[in-house]
Amino acid sequence: MKREITALENRTFDAVIIGAGIYGTLVAWRLAKAGYQVAIVEKGDFCAATSANSLKILHGGLRYLQHLDFKRMRESIKSRREIMSFAPHLVMPLPCLVPTIGRGMRSRLIMKSAFLANDLIGRDRNLGLAREKQLPPGRIMGRAEIKKIMPDLSRREITGGAVWYDGLAVNTERIALEYLLTACDYGAAAANYIRVDRIVTKDGGVTGITATDLLAGTPLAIRADRVINCAGPWFAELLRASGLPAPRVRWAKAVNLVVRKQISDTCAVGLESRAGDRDMDAVVKRGGRLYFFVPWKGLMMIGTTYHRFEQAPDRVRATREDLLTILEEANSLYPSLRLEYGDICFFHCGLVPMADKQEDEPGTVQLAKHPLVIDHADTGGPAGLVSLCGIKYTTAPTIAGKVLRLLGGEKSPPAARKTAGISRPPSPGRPVSLAAERLAALHDRYGHRAVRVAEYIGASRDGERWLCRQPDLQAGEVVYFIREEMAETLADVVLRRSGLGDAGSPGRDVLQRIAEVMAAELSWDTTRKEREVAAVEGRYYPLVLPG
Ligand SMILES: Cc1cc2nc3c(=O)[nH]c(=O)nc-3n(C[C@H](O)[C@H](O)[C@H](O)COP(=O)(O)OP(=O)(O)OC[C@H]3O[C@@H](n4cnc5c(N)ncnc54)[C@H](O)[C@@H]3O)c2cc1C
Repeated sequence: MKREITALENRTFDAVIIGAGIYGTLVAWRLAKAGYQVAIVEKGDFCAATSANSLKILHGGLRYLQHLDFKRMRESIKSRREIMSFAPHLVMPLPCLVPTIGRGMRSRLIMKSAFLANDLIGRDRNLGLAREKQLPPGRIMGRAEIKKIMPDLSRREITGGAVWYDGLAVNTERIALEYLLTACDYGAAAANYIRVDRIVTKDGGVTGITATDLLAGTPLAIRADRVINCAGPWFAELLRASGLPAPRVRWAKAVNLVVRKQISDTCAVGLESRAGDRDMDAVVKRGGRLYFFVPWKGLMMIGTTYHRFEQAPDRVRATREDLLTILEEANSLYPSLRLEYGDICFFHCGLVPMADKQEDEPGTVQLAKHPLVIDHADTGGPAGLVSLCGIKYTTAPTIAGKVLRLLGGEKSPPAARKTAGISRPPSPGRPVSLAAERLAALHDRYGHRAVRVAEYIGASRDGERWLCRQPDLQAGEVVYFIREEMAETLADVVLRRSGLGDAGSPGRDVLQRIAEVMAAELSWDTTRKEREVAAVEGRYYPLVLPG
């Protein structure tokens, strides 16, 4: 995948996609695989916005039983399976446990019935998945068993626990990147740090976009028969900037913490929050929202809180107060955690769409229940323009399928598609023989691309140099990110391509070592290196960085 601006400008694409979060990258993959000539541009780095900030649960939609929304459940189950089979190395089964209580809606009997329905509706949930990725049916456990997992669960009315299985996206950023890389294998053209300024229309239809190359500071134009607006929280803003009518969508700021303590190292635990953001639309139970405590990378994610957000999307930030609110709530739900501010090593923050109707009660947030897929021609807008507003990372495959159908379905016959555009750049150096253990670790991060990464590691003595042992990173991987995955900044490498810093700072020494490798490859001077290190450290503000 190369950043070639002239290749974006010198032809007319079937579709240009704006935004490379999970929705944009999945749409790019779906269309490119179906034979469309696709360009995709992103104003920041790939998958650096909302999609990098999720709680990483690929939901099968058990919760939607409360709304009796079986269609949405089916979509979630199918989408979860699609992501799990596309990038199995980046997803693992996640047991999710909630305590059962009394004789009401959270009782053992009701949860058992819910699991029966869930397993029936999701009977094909494992179709095509490798055995170790398959999701077992839900089950009920007794009080003694839940006490082993959560010894400090104190409420006397707890009768046991209910466990169901979802997917845990170990690395949300690399999943989106894998969709993008595969789209490029099918011939798509991609570029990061390209901000679309305007969707261009003529005679009632779209003709492409105008944009700015933020690295070169130069304008560019891309011609295309269709424009797919996957700009996430920015989608309406971009329509307005283009002089096009935009729906009014209100947003909530959503925040998670990552902390150095765990309740369980094997399963996610859901505890009912006493905070105000309740699910008022539930048909069956209008309870408090569940806070999830999710084991991840030997740490624990806690989330999610929601607060109404009225400002421009670029202004969304997690404040110290946001982090403290979650900390206090977590401590009140499971007091023996005794979390302190210094236990927080990372946080996630992004915008999610709210429902049109909100309760008057201050502090409550009703989240949107359905994604938007707008074919603008249907509402008097230009032909060829489609805008998306997703509500879950999980359901991006379903929405991408809808976009393909809107555009008219598959283009070229499968035989022609199979090899179309798939080309392999020359090998960077000698073939490498790495220890089986190291190859396995590379496979866990890169899947089938591990062999290619190993070639970079083996290309020179410097390629083998360790930049960090725990988590692991070798210099050859950094060169691979730059040459084949379009890493342009230190943050691209640290926060997304390698995942080294996506759960806390790897420390200044490591950042400087990686910056040195990038400087040699990209001709950075000392000032640039310092700026890059400072930019990565800025991502952890307002946390206290070690050392
Ligand atoms: C805290 C939190 C927890 C969550 N937890 C979960 C969860 O556990 N499971 C789940 O399924 N979902 C979860 N979600 C929801 C999920 O993350 C989102 O629904 C999903 O990531 C949205 O993806 P997107 O591609 O639409 O948006 P984004 O990822 O924001 O992508 C849009 C992209 O468009 C780019 N862009 C914008 N304007 C322009 C422009 N003018 N030119 C070029 N590019 C542009 C942006 O830079 C951005 O990269 C969570 C969300 C949050 C915030």
